[in-house]
Amino acid sequence: MLTLSPSRYTLQVPLRGGRTLGYNGLSGGLAVWDADETAIFEAISSGAPVDPASRSAQALLHGGYVVPQGVDELALVEEQYLQHRFDTRSLVLTVAPTLSCNFGCDYCFQGQDKPTGTMTPEVQDGLMAMVERFLPSLRRVHVAWYGGEPLLRLKVIEALSDRLIARCAEAGVAYSAMMVSNGYRLTAEVARSLVQRQVKTVQVTLDGGPGDHDRRRALLSGRPTFDRIVTNLQEVIDQTELILSVRVNIDHRNAERIPALLEHLAAAGLGNRGRLGVYFAPVEAMTSGCHTVEDVCMTKTGYGQLEVELLRQAFALGLASLPRPPRFRGTCAAIRPRGYVILPSGDVHKCWDTVSFPERAVGSIFDLDALARGDRMRQWLSWSPLDNAACRSCRILPNCAGSCAYKFVHAEDTRGEAASLPCPSWKYNIKERLLLRAEKSGVIGPEDIPDDVAPTDPAELCVDTVPAAAK
Ligand code: SF4
Ligand code: SF4
Repeated sequence: MLTLSPSRYTLQVPLRGGRTLGYNGLSGGLAVWDADETAIFEAISSGAPVDPASRSAQALLHGGYVVPQGVDELALVEEQYLQHRFDTRSLVLTVAPTLSCNFGCDYCFQGQDKPTGTMTPEVQDGLMAMVERFLPSLRRVHVAWYGGEPLLRLKVIEALSDRLIARCAEAGVAYSAMMVSNGYRLTAEVARSLVQRQVKTVQVTLDGGPGDHDRRRALLSGRPTFDRIVTNLQEVIDQTELILSVRVNIDHRNAERIPALLEHLAAAGLGNRGRLGVYFAPVEAMTSGCHTVEDVCMTKTGYGQLEVELLRQAFALGLASLPRPPRFRGTCAAIRPRGYVILPSGDVHKCWDTVSFPERAVGSIFDLDALARGDRMRQWLSWSPLDNAACRSCRILPNCAGSCAYKFVHAEDTRGEAASLPCPSWKYNIKERLLLRAEKSGVIGPEDIPDDVAPTDPAELCVDTVPAAAK
C-alpha cells in the first residue's frame, strides 16, 4: 500500500476552526485545508497510519503537500533547478553605456568615485559580435540597461537597441529589454523612445518622501531629485506604455516614514494604474563601496516584519500586487552560462555588483574565446546553492535557490548581518506574505486568522529542525 510522507517543502499556517493555510514551494500549491485534511496531514507527519485513498489524503497528495514515501524531493528540485539555470537558449546582457551617474547616493555599492567614460563604438561592435556568435542557438535575447545612470547616454542606448532589434528580427530571435534608472531624466519623451526600442519596464528608486529621499539620493551638486522623479513617473504613466517598478531601499534612517511615501505616491495619482508597482529592499553593506552604511542596516527580522506591513499598505493603495512566492529567485544572469554584464570599457563581468571593481571582471568583449575559459567565469558557473548545507536543508529552496550568488562567491565583502545570513526577507516573512495573499484574494477572511499567529521563524524553515517523519 502507498505510504505517504509530508513534503519537505510544505509550510503550514494555522487558521481558526482547526483549518490550515498550506503552501508547497515545489508544487506551488496554496490552499486552505479543512479540519479533516489538517488532521490527516498531522497524522502523516507523526508517522501514524492513514488511508492514502481517503478524500483528504488524496487532496493533500494532489497539492503536493504530501508525497509518496521515498520520493527524493531534493533531487527533483535539483533537476528542475539545473534545467532552469543552464538553459543556453537565452542570452541575458546587462549593458552599461556609462558608469557615470548624476546622483551621489550614500549607500551606492559602486562607490562615489565613478569613471565618466562612454561605451565606445568599438565596444558596441564587440557586443554585436558577441550576440552574432550566439545567435544561431538562441531563442531569446534580453537586455538590461544599467549604469551608472544609463539615461546619461540615451544616444548609445538608442543606437545599440536599433542594431540589436534589427539583428534579432532577421534571425527570428525574440528581443526584450528593461532598464534600471534613477528616474531623473525619465521624461515622457525619453520613455516613448525607450518603448519604441522595446524597453518594457524601467526600475526607478525612491527612498522615502522628499525629505529622506533628497538626503540620500541628491544630485552630485547636492540638489534635490524627489519632485522631479515623481513628476516624471506621473507623465510616463499618463502618456506611455512603459511599466514602472519603483524600488524603495529601507534602513533605520527612513524605515518609519515609508508609509508616508506610499501615501504621497497614491495622492500623486500613481495608485491603481496597473503599470506601476512598488517593491521594497533592505539596504545591505554588500561591497567595499558601501560599507559605510553598515551601522544603519536593519536586522533581518525587523526588516522582514516591516516589509509585510508595507506590502499590505501598498496593496491597499493600489501600488503593489499581492506577493507571489518566487521560483528559483537566485538564478540571476550572473550564474547562467549566457549572462554577461558589459561595461563601457569592454570589460565583461558576471554580476551587477562587481562593476566598480575591475579586478573582478571575468574577461573582455574583445576576446570571447578567453572569456569562456577564464577561472573567474568558472567561479560563478560552478557556484550552486545545492553545495551549501543551509540551502540544501531549506524549506524555501525552490523559491529562493540561494537568492544572490554574490553573497556566497564574494562573502568576504559583505558586512553586517547579511554576511552571516545571506537569506532574503522571504525567510523572515513568508508565512505573513502567504496570509496576505490568501486574505486579499478572498480565499480566507480576516476572521479566519488567529490573533496569536506566530511570525515566521527562519529556524522552522530548516528541514533539520522538524520531526523525522517530515524529512
Ligand atoms: S533562504 Fe537562505 S538557506 Fe534558504 S535557499 Fe535562500 S539563501 Fe539558502
Ligand atoms: S549575484 Fe546577486 S548581486 Fe550579483 S547580479 Fe545576481 S542577484 Fe545581483
